[in-house]
Amino acid sequence: MAKQIQAIRGMNDALPTQTPAWQKLEAVIRSSVSAYGYSEIRTPIVESTDLFKRSIGEVTDIVEKEMYTFDDRNGDSLTLRPEGTASTVRAGNEHGLLYNQEQRLWYMGPMFRHERPQKGRYRQFHQFGVEVYGIATADIDAEVLMLSARLWEQLGISEHVTLELNTLGDPKERAAYREALIAFLEQHKDVLDEDSQRRMYSNPLRVLDSKDRNVQAILKDAPALMDYLGEESKTHFSTLCELLDAVGIQYTINPRLVRGLDYYNRTVFEWVTTSLGSQGTVLAGGRYDGLVGQLGGKDTPAVGFAMGLERIILLLDTLGLNDNLPSEVDVYVTAMGEQCIPEAIKIAQELRNALPTLKVMSHCGGGNFKKQMKRADRSGAQFALIIGENELNNNQVAVKPLRENNEQQLVAREQLATTIAELI
Ligand code: ATP
Ligand code: MG
Repeated sequence: MAKQIQAIRGMNDALPTQTPAWQKLEAVIRSSVSAYGYSEIRTPIVESTDLFKRSIGEVTDIVEKEMYTFDDRNGDSLTLRPEGTASTVRAGNEHGLLYNQEQRLWYMGPMFRHERPQKGRYRQFHQFGVEVYGIATADIDAEVLMLSARLWEQLGISEHVTLELNTLGDPKERAAYREALIAFLEQHKDVLDEDSQRRMYSNPLRVLDSKDRNVQAILKDAPALMDYLGEESKTHFSTLCELLDAVGIQYTINPRLVRGLDYYNRTVFEWVTTSLGSQGTVLAGGRYDGLVGQLGGKDTPAVGFAMGLERIILLLDTLGLNDNLPSEVDVYVTAMGEQCIPEAIKIAQELRNALPTLKVMSHCGGGNFKKQMKRADRSGAQFALIIGENELNNNQVAVKPLRENNEQQLVAREQLATTIAELI
């Protein structure tokens, strides 16, 4: 036998048993963004490698070791997008969407990072994200957080996620803090793990979220970024906190939260859960006022977040919230005898036309009553319609409940849609 080809490690199929959970999540996301008036943007999956190097930053996990980068047939260096923000800014600049305008955008789609696959961490994964341009004030930071909090409510997981918040100040304030932090880290160099030693000079803020216990221990005495903030940054942060208080969104301020990407300034946040082990961050984002300019556009304030869909699906699975999702089929239409097939498929079509949201599956492939009923049951349908010689002669359809112990009933064909609508 020929050898079967397998999927690439860390890149998963979503099987028919799993796609209902995805569709439900995607539907909740779509209705959430629409409730806030956001518009969708779709960008290519492949971009110039430079786009990600210049935006995400050279000394980051993503650019240092996670990108799927290759030369195409022209010798141009291309990269499978590892995240959505850089592409959105690139598209916004390219099509003149950003300068002097307000845009509230969202996207959803696959991202690619060459990481060690494990629960909640894959090489192809999916993100939903929002990106807002042209608004510098903290009310919009609060809005994207409200949108995310509302999403948790709609998904029924509010009790299982918490919001962590921090501010990184402006580039100048961060530069002053960086100096102080490097000076501090130099005093404790021998305690730092390998990664932290390497990053100490290139990206010292990243040392703050080192997972190493010894490093975490010495960081208790590290200088705090809050002490380096100017008035404007402080006010921006306190305004955001007041707005969140006003709408009842709880948060903890986590001075160690710095985010892994270079482009953030001021507000940064993460929604985390303790229900998924070490892959606990389900949504992360912040303000990135410098990025549009950095990528060649005119300076434009920006704020956004990205949510990992796989981790939300896992969380919903863990909590049992993906059990009992509605079946793909409501009504299964059977034909008893080959001569009944033309009318049976016509009846199925009439039902679809009369009730556009009804999910109607026609039996195909013949077989006796028992076989067709088995298929009907397996389809997950609520009802089987039985169409045989007798029914057709009397202009009737037999409606057989499959999930409840109710009696089968004969329904006049012209009453069928009305009856099904009442039953479902
Ligand atoms: P982590 O610290 O877990 O590596 P990150 O900081 O790299 O996360 P972001 O780049 O901010 O993550 O992406 C936002 C969200 O996308 C994450 O919070 C997570 O839910 C999801 N995500 C990131 N990388 C992966 C991955 N490899 N597989 C699945 N989901 C991911
Ligand atoms: Mg990562």
